[in-house]
Amino acid sequence: MKSASRTVYLTDMDGFEFESLCKTIFEQLDYGRVELLPPVGDGGRDLIIHDQQGKTVVECKHQPKTSIGRPIIQKLHSAVISEGARKGIVVTTGKFSRQAIEHAATLSPEIELIDIAMLRDLTSRAGMHIVTDQESAPIHTYQLLGTEKINGFTVGHLSNKIVSHPATVKGAYSPQRTDILLRPVYRIRYSIDAEFSTSIGVVHAERSMGQFFIDGSDGKVISEGAADYFSSTPIQNMLRWDNVSSNTIASDQPFKILASTVKEIAMDNIIRRHTQTVRYSGRNNHTYSKECTPPKKDIFISDISQEYLPEYQIDCLLLGRAQQLEFANNGTSLIHVLNDSTSICPICKEHVNQEKRSLCNECGLITCTKKYFFKKKRHALECDVCGKTLCPSCASYASRMLLMKTVLCVGCANDFTRRGKRVKTLIRA
Ligand SMILES: [Zn+2]
Ligand SMILES: [Zn+2]
Ligand SMILES: [Zn+2]
Repeated sequence: MKSASRTVYLTDMDGFEFESLCKTIFEQLDYGRVELLPPVGDGGRDLIIHDQQGKTVVECKHQPKTSIGRPIIQKLHSAVISEGARKGIVVTTGKFSRQAIEHAATLSPEIELIDIAMLRDLTSRAGMHIVTDQESAPIHTYQLLGTEKINGFTVGHLSNKIVSHPATVKGAYSPQRTDILLRPVYRIRYSIDAEFSTSIGVVHAERSMGQFFIDGSDGKVISEGAADYFSSTPIQNMLRWDNVSSNTIASDQPFKILASTVKEIAMDNIIRRHTQTVRYSGRNNHTYSKECTPPKKDIFISDISQEYLPEYQIDCLLLGRAQQLEFANNGTSLIHVLNDSTSICPICKEHVNQEKRSLCNECGLITCTKKYFFKKKRHALECDVCGKTLCPSCASYASRMLLMKTVLCVGCANDFTRRGKRVKTLIRA
């Protein structure tokens, strides 16, 4: 069981207290049995974790103001080998130098690096909340939705997008499984102030501010829309992992990307976003072009903070047919749709984002409502008698005049046949 929420003040801690904090965290997170070694010299080992696969040697460094360099990594690696352990972990309340990160990546057995950002994530998962003197920011998160709201948002979204008759989307909807994914992200805020000159003077100025997310588990830049959507003030409370029932969490991914690596990824992304080719005329009236790439010195990353974004993955049935919807929610009643299986027409395979889709009330197929002149080419039809929404395979036709066809649902087609009228089904290739 995870303990109740507890605040840990790192500033007041000495090295020994920090080691026992690490011990508590590893125990709470079920890493294994944690042995606290007596403080002898600088052997490069403070804790040993025993699990089924073997031993892990842990070195704890409570050094918020320094970067851990390569020598500490090397020393721990030697300790791992002499101990016959399967891996090593260095935990710091500060950062790692680039040399340390690069060196650790080459080692076997593996040396895992945990910096202050990742430590904050682990601590939060263990039901505690770290406060340091430099940054008191816990990991931001957003209100999690309950089942009723999740289904309400799903039905609301689908009802907006889908026409259905006589069944309503709400009546056709049946939830199957809901997973909540807490995506760990770094929010990057930056400003840029760069000027580009040639012999004729300034040809371009790049001045702006922006923000975006980087996925904390794989280092990928997340599309701009997400950071804008989540730009309202997050709920400042730490996430209470013990409040989140574990069977609703599909994927409980930790922060795996070090804060220093995030900064490099962010810088590269900002440079790429703000590089442009500018055309200008020189004194001789010739047109020139210049690629304006902002230099790092003109880019100011003002903030890197951690958040968990709640994402909801819904498996449901609409008239018996399986559909999936994935959306993010920032605690407001607007959702940010990430993936919607009803948005691709199964007949033409095209994405339907703006126009409505149609739910066939015979078979549950959801198709585009693109208006072809000839009804037989349309992917969504309505019964001319009762108004039932139909897909092409479920529609029958009765001839009216010359080229005019009456579209019929199964029930109305049977009625027509009983009254002796000729009804055809369209055979599709
Ligand atoms: Zn279509
Ligand atoms: Zn159908
Ligand atoms: Zn009908």
